[in-house]
Amino acid sequence: MSRVYNFSAGPAVLPEEVLVEAQSQLVDYKGAGMSLMEMSHRGKEYDAVHTEAVANLKRLMGLGDDFTILFQTGGASGQFALVPLNLLGAGQTADYINAGSWGAKAIKEAKNIGTVNVAADTSKAKPSRMPKAGEMKLTPGASYLHITTNETIEGTQMKSMPDVEAPLVADMSSDILSRPLNFSKFGLIYAGAQKNIGPAGVTLVAIRKDLLERSSEKIPAIFRYKVHAAENSLYNTPPCFAIYLVMLVTRWIDQQGGLDKLAALNAAKAAHLYAAVDGSGGYYRGTAAVEDRSDMNVTFRLPSEELEEKFVKEASAAKLKGLKGHRSVGGIRASIYNAFPRAGVDALVSFMREFQQRNG
Ligand code: PMP
Repeated sequence: MSRVYNFSAGPAVLPEEVLVEAQSQLVDYKGAGMSLMEMSHRGKEYDAVHTEAVANLKRLMGLGDDFTILFQTGGASGQFALVPLNLLGAGQTADYINAGSWGAKAIKEAKNIGTVNVAADTSKAKPSRMPKAGEMKLTPGASYLHITTNETIEGTQMKSMPDVEAPLVADMSSDILSRPLNFSKFGLIYAGAQKNIGPAGVTLVAIRKDLLERSSEKIPAIFRYKVHAAENSLYNTPPCFAIYLVMLVTRWIDQQGGLDKLAALNAAKAAHLYAAVDGSGGYYRGTAAVEDRSDMNVTFRLPSEELEEKFVKEASAAKLKGLKGHRSVGGIRASIYNAFPRAGVDALVSFMREFQQRNG
């Protein structure tokens, strides 16, 4: 077996231990004579998985009984629609921060459903950056404030969360469980699993229970948070196998020492890469404002697009895969989520030095 260093933005690298464990149970899950994928989602084996996944997520996020965890499908993109559909009532306004490509998509979708105030817009800023607290023009009595805690394409991350009266709704798709946060300060948190907590196909929603009451009966049941909450995410057949992997990843996070430990490892990985960028005498140029640099997605440019293409190609040949920046912005993006090993960052830093020597 030869695993490469996978810098893909998502679906992204999973802990090898998790893959090996899932493989060992794939054909015959715990002696049941069938795969978990072949079992009823209402049977005792799957029930144990589902219950543990919910409990582990709540514990890791420090959430109490006033929160409920939902497993949804449709990705974070589905939540772009479901959040306003459920939380934004007629005649009300929702505040949104537009700090990059994903925030912009959330806004576009919300505008199809209700009234949106863009409270701050740094989406076109160069270098890419997050808004400062004083830049936000909030609506008094807003339904909620929507933020994107990590802009995956631009490589920016919110280092502190806005302090607002309205419920805070966060798309945490690309940095969920990568650092300790006061999660109970949020009204709703959502994240596609495929970067930090599992495979594609399941979307985590953590919602404060009082917000469930906002879901109108006119919304089709399948789109209503309240229905999913009442049925413990078993209103319809959930993505059982993806949830099983999320459960294994939450166990793995515990084995690593929890969120404090992971955050320290993540920060050190990112710092090492940014130091390589900053120490290159301008050969590599970071695209994000230094104070907002993401610990998850490290974005930078080379002197020309030709060199960037060569960099990606040669890195790939050296088993450093998935470094091409998002097609909308170009450049290089190294995604280094929780499961991305430190040794892979070291390998990339060596490669960067060597590439510059050959092509500087
Ligand atoms: N939000 C963010 C911050 C993302 O990084 C992504 C995926 N890259 C999405 C939303 C969209 O997620 P999905 O493909 O699960 O709909």
